[in-house]
Amino acid sequence: MLEKLLKRIEGAGVYEYGLVNPSEIEYRQMIRDICAGNTCRQYGMTWACPPAVGTVEECRNRCLQYNTMLVFTGVFRLEDVFDWEGMLRGLKDFKEIARNVDAAVKPYLKNYLVLSNEGCGACESCTYPDAPCRFPEQLHHSIEGYGILVSELAKQTAVKYNNGKNSVTYFGALLFNNTEILTAL
Ligand code: SF4
Repeated sequence: MLEKLLKRIEGAGVYEYGLVNPSEIEYRQMIRDICAGNTCRQYGMTWACPPAVGTVEECRNRCLQYNTMLVFTGVFRLEDVFDWEGMLRGLKDFKEIARNVDAAVKPYLKNYLVLSNEGCGACESCTYPDAPCRFPEQLHHSIEGYGILVSELAKQTAVKYNNGKNSVTYFGALLFNNTEILTAL
């Protein structure tokens, strides 16, 4: 069953993927503190990022409901290291990949969680914090917002963190229980 699910994920446009048990990951307050520094300007701006996603402990507990984390990446070419527009374009495209992963597994997993890279970006302006999310089915929390250090996650899953000069690599994750893959596959 797992192999068939992996085939579907490969078809969703991911660059690489690897597996780890969510109980083997560290969920660090230090990463959350970096989020609070707001370099990415998403902190407190969207339902996809802290503080809306809950405390690091709450995020950890959410992840521990599952026994498998499939870490996936998207790699995007840049003109040079200053290609900010290319990075933003890549981030937008990566969110599309995360949505593709979600759609690919939806018929086969009753309970699962998809994490994506920073922010949301599905709407021109987010409803946070005044009204509920407009599209909760498209809402993927930020992986860094959970206190997860993606460079370490890359090592744990044997996925490349850096894919060469003039490229940017974004990280997302699918969490699920490998004993609960529906037999309709
Ligand atoms: S889907 Fe829209 S309302 Fe919901 S978190 Fe994303 S930007 Fe905000």
